[in-house]
Parts: sequence; C-alpha cells; structure tokens
Amino acid sequence: MAQLDLREKLEILADAAKYDASCASSGTAKRKSAGGKGIGSTEGMGICHAYAPDGRCISLLKILLTNSCIFDCHYCINRKSSNVRRARFTAQEVVKLTLDFYRRNYIEGLFLSSGIIRSSNYTMEQIVEVARSLREDHDFRGYIHLKTIPDADPELLRQAGLHADRLSINVELPTVAGLARLAPEKSAPRIEGAMRGLRQEIEDKSDAAKRYRSAPKFAPAGQSTQMIVGADAATDRDIVQRASGLYGRFNLRRVYYSAFSPIPDASAVLPLQRPPLMREHRLYQSDWLMRFYDYGPDEVADAADPATGMMPLDIDPKLSWALKHRHRFPVDVNRAPREMLLRVPGLGVKAVDKIILARRWRRLSLADVGRLTVSVAKLRPFLIADDWRPVTLSDRADLRPIVAPKKEQLELFAA
Ligand code: SF4
Repeated sequence: MAQLDLREKLEILADAAKYDASCASSGTAKRKSAGGKGIGSTEGMGICHAYAPDGRCISLLKILLTNSCIFDCHYCINRKSSNVRRARFTAQEVVKLTLDFYRRNYIEGLFLSSGIIRSSNYTMEQIVEVARSLREDHDFRGYIHLKTIPDADPELLRQAGLHADRLSINVELPTVAGLARLAPEKSAPRIEGAMRGLRQEIEDKSDAAKRYRSAPKFAPAGQSTQMIVGADAATDRDIVQRASGLYGRFNLRRVYYSAFSPIPDASAVLPLQRPPLMREHRLYQSDWLMRFYDYGPDEVADAADPATGMMPLDIDPKLSWALKHRHRFPVDVNRAPREMLLRVPGLGVKAVDKIILARRWRRLSLADVGRLTVSVAKLRPFLIADDWRPVTLSDRADLRPIVAPKKEQLELFAA
C-alpha cells in the first residue's frame, strides 16, 4: 500500500464510508461534559441527522478504518477484487481525527466501519481499540456508532458495546439466497447469531442498570442493521417481512435501506441499473407504518402490488393500503379511536395526537383538520368531520388519480 498522509487517507476512507446508510444516532443515553469533566456531549443541540447530498451523514465523522478487505462481496466497492485506491488508518489516527474534528465543532461523534483485514478478530480488535481509547484515554463523551463484524469473537463484540452508543451488524441482503449469491463468504446464521448475542447483552445490561446504578452501560442506543435494496430479486413485500422479523427477533432500533448503486468494475451478477431512489423512500415509509402507526407486516405488505410484490412509486404505502381497504373508511374525526385516525392518509402521528386533544373541547371541522396536515385533498375521501361527509367521493372508481400527488414540472433554474 502506498504511503499516504492523513488527509489523503481521510479522503479515501470517508468517501468509502458513504455507502453505509446506518448512521443516524437517535435514542442514546444522555451524557455531557458541562462542569469541566471530559469532552463531548450527546445533549444540547445534540447530534443532528444531517445528510450530505451524496448520502453521508455530516454530523458524525463517518469513516472506514480501512477499505482493504479479504472478502469479495459482489456489491461492495471495497471487495478484494475491486480496483480502488486502498488506505488504512491506525486506531490512534482515528482517535486523533475524532478529537480534532470534535474540538473544531465539525462533528458530534464517530461512525466507524471497516473492511476486514487479516481476520475478523484482528479487525474487530482495532475497532474496539479506537472506541476504548476515545472513552478511557480521552474521556470522550460524544456519540460512537461501531459497525461490528459478525464473525468476530463474541467477547470483542461485548467490549465494543461497553464503549459504543450503538452497534450495528449488516444483514446485507433481504434474503438468505441473495446473501449466499452476492456475499458467499458471509453466513446468514452467523450474522443472526451475532445479532442475537447483542440483543441478549443489551437486555441483560439494561436490566442490571435498573437494579444497580453502577452497572456498566452496553450500547445504550441499541443495535441496527442495513439491507441493500435492488441488488437481488427480493421484492418490497419480501423486504418488509424480513425487516419485521428482524425488529421482532433482535429488538432492533432501526433497519436501514440502502438502494444498491452500481459500482465501477461491477461484477456481472449485479444489475446494471440502480433501483429508483423512490423505492428506498417507500420502504422507509413502510417501515414507519410498522413502527409508529401500528400496522402489522402483513398489512404493510398488502399495500404492495399483488402481482409484483412492489410498493407503488407514485403514492405512499399508507394511501395505497387505504385505497385497497375503502370499507374501513370514512373515519369520523370526532369519534374514531386513535388507531383508526392513524390509518387516514395525510394524518401523521402528531396531527392525530393534536386531534385527540382538541376534540375533548369541541367538534372539529374539515378546516380544523386541514390546519394540521399538508394536503386536505388527500384526506377528504377518508374522513368525516363536523361539516364534511364525503358521500360518493369515497366510492369513486377513479379515486386514485384524485388523491395521488400531482406531478410537478421542476424549474430548470429554480433557486
Ligand atoms: S466484508 Fe464488508 S467491506 Fe468486505 S467486501 Fe464484504 S461488504 Fe465489502
């Protein structure tokens, strides 16, 4: 490997990390350095989830320890057979960069992932050393998210969890067949075994923390995972079902979806084109329906086209579900339970909670509801208000084009 200075390494290894979507940082424990103790904080303005146009999370120093790898996953630009420029940080270089960036107020924390060098254990030891040194040698109290290596010794994963706020292990592909085909050196049972171990450790430490104040924390922001979308034949319905199973079995905080992007010198087994970015967006919306709107995975999957198993791209999954289940509507905004209001297209969780609060004092009109939502046109066929009843609108055969968002011509020179 050519001798590179720190700036050149940073250029290569920050760019290589942009393919990883899983770096949002919500839900961690509160720590601060106010009072002169330590450095860093997860509070105050906190960790914002800002993303650069190329998808990188810009509030964290998001880098790889190295983009060299002994594995050859077809979809990965860093795979062994890829012809990319390689670089590698030492653990102490990552520590120094994190502290320097933090002091300059560039970042709120660190997201560290890595290709696999020498062995899974050796690589994991380096990753753990970065987190250990930040916490123990420098009393760093900012956010740390470590991408862990499922094949590494469980003791190393345990040590990672003692220093990091969040741990993640990528399941990589939505189906076991896809993983076997595109990442033949990886094993779905080993990945899931490591996720199971993390879940156990997180729950044990969380129980201990409730009983003993001095109990060590373990990954207080939980674990997450990431799936690549569009590199294999998995449908949106497959992906939703898989995500739901992962949430249930491993108590994940988040499943991230990353639209496959064709890489230079791509393997012949990969598709030539990336999937539409809107597909990734629809999957995130489906994910939200399960996590915040009380939809079961089968209900979300029901929003997909029965023939193709794919979510429609022109309307969101909640609207798609409502159009298929018109017998459940219209819903009376002044009487319906919360779970039915959450099913009304155009009403978000905050709007529903405000409605429930407001209707304790008075009956709500369509205009009242309209003030809580972006598009009253979208919800009119699905809602009864004090001065509004959709009558025939709900039953119209051409309802879909009426409620679908209008396509807008973008201005070429818009500001
Ligand atoms: S193990 Fe990770 S870094 Fe290595 S080729 Fe596979 S996806 Fe890429």
